[in-house]
Amino acid sequence: MARRRETNIFSLSLLDCICCGFGALILFHMIIASRSGRQYEKVTETLRAEVDKREKEVLDGNERLVELRNSFREIDEKRAAAQGLSTRILETLKQIEAELAIYDGQTVAQREHVNKLKADLKSLEEGTKRYSGGTPSQEVPGRNVRSFVGDGDRQYLTGLKVGGKRIFFLADASSSMLAEDIVNAVRRHLFPPPTRLRARKWRHAVRSVDWLAAQMPREAQFQLYVFNTRARPVLAGTDGVWLAAKDGATVDKAIVVGGGLIGFEVCEALRLAGIDTTVIEKTRQILPFLDPDLAKLVERHVRAHGPDIIVGNGVAEFLGEDGRLTGVKLDNGTELPCQLAVVAVGVRPNVGLAQAAGIEIGEVGGIRVDEHMQTSDPDVYAVGDCVECRSLITGKKVRAPYGDLANLQGRVAGQNVVRAGSARFPGITQTGICKIFDYTVGFTGISAKQAQDLGWRNVETATISGLDIPVFMGGKLLISKMVADRETGRILGFQCIGPGDVSKRVATVAMAIRGNLTVADLVNADLPYAPPYSLALDHVIVAAQVLENKLAGRMQGLSVTEVKQRVDSGADCFILDTRSPAEFEEMRLGIGETLIPLGALRDRLGELPQDKDKEIILYCKISLRGYEGAAILSAHGWHNVKVMEGGIMAWPYPREK
Ligand SMILES: Cc1cc2nc3c(=O)[nH]c(=O)nc-3n(C[C@H](O)[C@H](O)[C@H](O)COP(=O)(O)OP(=O)(O)OC[C@H]3O[C@@H](n4cnc5c(N)ncnc54)[C@H](O)[C@@H]3O)c2cc1C
Repeated sequence: MARRRETNIFSLSLLDCICCGFGALILFHMIIASRSGRQYEKVTETLRAEVDKREKEVLDGNERLVELRNSFREIDEKRAAAQGLSTRILETLKQIEAELAIYDGQTVAQREHVNKLKADLKSLEEGTKRYSGGTPSQEVPGRNVRSFVGDGDRQYLTGLKVGGKRIFFLADASSSMLAEDIVNAVRRHLFPPPTRLRARKWRHAVRSVDWLAAQMPREAQFQLYVFNTRARPVLAGTDGVWLAAKDGATVDKAIVVGGGLIGFEVCEALRLAGIDTTVIEKTRQILPFLDPDLAKLVERHVRAHGPDIIVGNGVAEFLGEDGRLTGVKLDNGTELPCQLAVVAVGVRPNVGLAQAAGIEIGEVGGIRVDEHMQTSDPDVYAVGDCVECRSLITGKKVRAPYGDLANLQGRVAGQNVVRAGSARFPGITQTGICKIFDYTVGFTGISAKQAQDLGWRNVETATISGLDIPVFMGGKLLISKMVADRETGRILGFQCIGPGDVSKRVATVAMAIRGNLTVADLVNADLPYAPPYSLALDHVIVAAQVLENKLAGRMQGLSVTEVKQRVDSGADCFILDTRSPAEFEEMRLGIGETLIPLGALRDRLGELPQDKDKEIILYCKISLRGYEGAAILSAHGWHNVKVMEGGIMAWPYPREK
């Protein structure tokens, strides 16, 4: 058994001591090592922090470098763009300079031309003066008044032009204004004032002042004085006061008597001159050659431009004060103020001379002529407004005071004078045209109303709306009505209005009437087509197609007037608008209509009255979709389906929207 070594504190052997010493050395080393490790870690941490810091600085630096590089690139790009721009600006400047040089050249040329005109004018004036034997003119600079010294010590004003802003009228009211010679001047001086005022010389002076006042620009001011022994203002309380020209003799309100072609041309001119204008028409409608529904559309167009129109009321009396017009009184007693009235109530043939010569006057009051323009006296020919013409439609004599006819007839008469019987003027279709603000109004042949007045019951009409050329070519609206004989299909008349090219359509139909063409002929007419000039189916052809559909019983139409009458009388009918909801939102009649877009009609037939005999009236913007809708309903058994002809575009009455 192994002996166990005893241990106590004092029992260490040498080996123990060595081991202990060695252990102490290790311990000591560990202590030292641990202390120096801690120091080393501390240094490392500091160094790492330093490294991190530097690294961050380097990264920041890099970022800034990238930013700088980017901004350098941007600056480079901007510089390049600016260089491009400046090059372009320089080029444009060069171009402008070149254009300016051209304009400069033109201006110089124009100036030279004006100078030459002035020189010509001056030499003309000199010539005139030399011719009249007068002394040189005295021009008053800046006043546009040129005075010429005549014989003796009298002075005449001539070529006077009132262009100033302030004009002073001074009229001589001394006794010398009562007569030319001293004896009569003294004699008249003893007459009472009203008689004195009627003196010819004085009235002449008053008219001159009136004329001068009328020439003043509207923005000018004036003073009006008479002098005898002393000057005094003509208008009470205006001593030394400058009056606005428009307070004087200028026209603010005008009345046009007569709503025919000339009345409306005058009305437009007055309105464009800034004058408040009213047209008074005695009959129930304006423009008697149109049917009432189209006339009403023109009425609405005129009103939209400012002038008022009164129909069914004539002018009974002109009202005035001190020899000036102050207004008119209508048949119903209404008084309308105005300073100007234009009477445009038509013309009567001037046949006095012919009557006195024993020449025959015809049934409608013109000189009777044959087709050679020869009167009842074979040596006398007559042409123009004074003669009667034969209507190629009715065969009846009519009066047609138009400038083109006067010229045509003049040529025929001239030819026959040279060689008897060599030329004929067979008759007229009664074609006319005029401009009323943005609308052209044209007509040829007879209207439905005229046909009715002539006792013709057998006529059919078709009213259509549509563009003259495609939308992308700037198409403008046309609204027209074609009239034809129901039995033969012969075209009897055509009316067309709107901002589009009316003239071409009226001329086409005028030729169709002249050639006795029928609706069927016109449907297949070979008219010129290219988008700038027409639709593929020209307006006239579409009008003929609609009329053909009606003549063949494929379509039943109602005029807008007939629809309005039904609405006003509360007639039992169902009104169907076949446009889109967007169109309905933008514009609608508000006459109790139901909106069912054409595309949805087949699916929504259940919303229609199920009584198949009930009158259903369809329309859209121009009634093309209305017609298609009517065809769908007819195919589904509704018998009383009608189309409002021309659609909303032909509706002349007030709309809800
Ligand atoms: C404002 C206005 C606008 C018009 N616009 C148009 C239009 O756009 N298009 C159109 O087609 N038509 C238009 N007309 C109609 C057209 O002017 C006439 O149809 C045309 O002038 C008729 O010609 P005329 O030679 O028969 O008569 P006028 O042109 O009137 O000429 C007759 C002449 O005979 C003279 N005379 C009369 N009696 C005698 C006598 N005993 N001895 C000698 N001379 C005499 C008259 O003084 C007059 O100069 C317009 C008319 C007016 C008033």
